[in-house]
Amino acid sequence: MPRYRADLHVHSCLSPCADIDVSPRTLARRAASLGLDMLALTDHNSCANGPAHQDCCRQERIVPVFGMELTTLEEVHCLCLFEDLDGALDFQNLVYSGLSRFPVDENFYYPQLLVNSQEEILDQVYFLLTPASALDISTALSEVHQRGGIFVPAHIDKPRDSLFSQLGFLPTDPFDAVEITLPPDESTKRIRRGKLPFVANSDCHILEDLAQRYTEFEAEHCSFGELKKALAIARARGNDQLPQPPTNWVAGVWGFPSRKT
Ligand SMILES: [Zn+2]
Ligand SMILES: [Zn+2]
Repeated sequence: MPRYRADLHVHSCLSPCADIDVSPRTLARRAASLGLDMLALTDHNSCANGPAHQDCCRQERIVPVFGMELTTLEEVHCLCLFEDLDGALDFQNLVYSGLSRFPVDENFYYPQLLVNSQEEILDQVYFLLTPASALDISTALSEVHQRGGIFVPAHIDKPRDSLFSQLGFLPTDPFDAVEITLPPDESTKRIRRGKLPFVANSDCHILEDLAQRYTEFEAEHCSFGELKKALAIARARGNDQLPQPPTNWVAGVWGFPSRKT
């Protein structure tokens, strides 16, 4: 069966902590040149650059995935991924409705830019997108699944903004996978006991980091539905039965960054 490469955690100039020149167009072009088959745009608490992402991915013949890196009520970062733009924007409405309206302090953050596929600036989001939303993890997961999406706690092995840093344990919610940034070690072994698939992604905030980590999955063809199926198969099989990396992580993971993200 063919294998496909996806980077499912990528920020654009809409994120206040991402480089201002990381546009959907530059991301899609670089993703194509690096051989990615699928690219998700996951700005903090927002999918608003999704229309440009859709156009640019289509131009580059890459499968677009729409979503966001949600900050939950517990301040845990979670990837919320959707097959289509409408589902993502519907979820965004829910997130925005409970988001505090802190102004963006441009001494600390970049402006949060909405752009089109030609890199023209259409508008800015003037309230800070990174704070905790009103959705707790379980509610967010349920809302994502109701919209047919994939829910993945992000960078669980990081010492901040992660499941383990905020909660200290792995909830029993039916996560589709968990994202790691380094090969599994002692601290992530308990995830194996939780039998959740691992994925890895670049979490790129600057263009050079794109695809420095990525997720590889086997499928009949490259689509969101096939990615979902690959993760479900991996969950059912259980991580305990997987060989150690690098020969096969479920949705296998290759290439680690030379710089810390
Ligand atoms: Zn994060
Ligand atoms: Zn991120």
